Amino acid sequence: MDYVNDIGYRKETLKKLLYNIQKSEDLIIQALYDDFKKPAFEAVITETNYVISELKDTIKNIKKWAKPKRVFPSLVNFPSTDYIYKEPYGNVLVIAPWNYPFQLALCPLISAIAAGNKVTLKPSELTPHTSAIIAEIIEKTFHINHVEVVEGGIDISNKLLAQRWDYIFFTGSVTVGKIVAKAAAENLTPVTLELGGKNPCIIDETANLKLAAKRIVWGKFINAGQTCIAPDYILIQKNMKINFIKFLMEEIINAYTKNTEKSPDFARIINTKNWLRLVSMIESEKVIFGGQSDVNELYIAPTLIEEPSLESAVMKEEIFGPILPILMYETEEDIKNIITRYEKPLAFYIFSENKSFTKKIIQTYSFGGGCINDTIVHFSNKRLPFGGVGHSGIGAYHGQLSFDTFSHHKGVVKKANWLDIPMRYAPYKDKLASIKRVLDWL
Ligand code: NAD
Repeated sequence: MDYVNDIGYRKETLKKLLYNIQKSEDLIIQALYDDFKKPAFEAVITETNYVISELKDTIKNIKKWAKPKRVFPSLVNFPSTDYIYKEPYGNVLVIAPWNYPFQLALCPLISAIAAGNKVTLKPSELTPHTSAIIAEIIEKTFHINHVEVVEGGIDISNKLLAQRWDYIFFTGSVTVGKIVAKAAAENLTPVTLELGGKNPCIIDETANLKLAAKRIVWGKFINAGQTCIAPDYILIQKNMKINFIKFLMEEIINAYTKNTEKSPDFARIINTKNWLRLVSMIESEKVIFGGQSDVNELYIAPTLIEEPSLESAVMKEEIFGPILPILMYETEEDIKNIITRYEKPLAFYIFSENKSFTKKIIQTYSFGGGCINDTIVHFSNKRLPFGGVGHSGIGAYHGQLSFDTFSHHKGVVKKANWLDIPMRYAPYKDKLASIKRVLDWL
């Protein structure tokens, strides 16, 4: 089968994938629950429905996205018609993380196939139930020479990385991102690296504090804080801190009750290693809310920490769990001193009604993407690029940009033969003055 050129075939397989995912939706939701008690509501909005919507959008637009695009020609080439052709890279490797294990495996895969590539997918070994159902759905949908799932951990990942690929799409930690980049460099393989970082969340004195607290609690504690774009720490204007903390506590209780451990809406930590890492972050800090944990349940309560030292573990690395440090600032210099301690973050949030302040902040700091007066929702707009900058990643995707990510863009000039302007050909003799005049005019 000619996967590369047959857009009809690509579309048919994507339709089949859509059918198989929709048919297995309950099993996928169950697998996500079995892996780390992801609540069904969160499983639908952030995983199954997200993938289904991406699939429908891709199926609807695949012909348009794949079509050679005519661009305005350069007058120096007159007469010509110029095109950008979208060419599949060939063999694509997708390596996925565990925190949104269905969505972050399937979304790049869908676009890679739409763009005409063959795909090898390695889902995370930390979510075995979800990885198994992904493997089952893929096996049912695609020919093995077209799409293959290879399950396994670091060994398998390294074996795959040792092979030569035409494109590698990696989602995961900065540390492993560097390993992927090094492996890719061996063969000059292009990469997308979707990584992480410490995402600041600034709240100034003009912010609607109650609404900010509600939106931050949702964006921080969804998936038990194990979200690459979750707000990592709060930077709040000094005079607003006490009220804001009160609202934060109220909103946590509103969402998960006082007994969060019993709430069906709060996920668990992925494994003991991460549980230990997170619990050790809390131990020596001033916990003003939460802090309870249970290793047998891999549970950590939504936890607020007040004014941790910038040298503490919780402020040194990406938290990636349900712990929210709250720091205060008095001047813009204070904000700068904290934010610039870290590499460029994947996400950035500002809660403020002050237009000039938000504009200044957006323009001053470099970050992957973000929101004004909300958290994490920039992820849901397919027309916005999603990706990091600097250490938070290379490249971006979502919507048509995903299709373009997996396509080499080939520029082609089609020259007409009815006219051949002699100016550029040797012998150049006394043509220099005339060519300068023409180039100036163009
Ligand atoms: P991870 O880097 O540990 O693992 C990601 C993948 O790499 C897994 O499939 C794993 O098997 C493989 N892997 C792990 N160690 C490896 C090694 N030494 N050599 C080769 N392969 C290896 O990341 P994770 O714990 O699964 O996910 C959490 C991280 O991912 C966080 O830092 C988070 O911010 C980031 N993340 C980023 C995004 C994004 O879209 N930018 C999305 C989700 C998660």
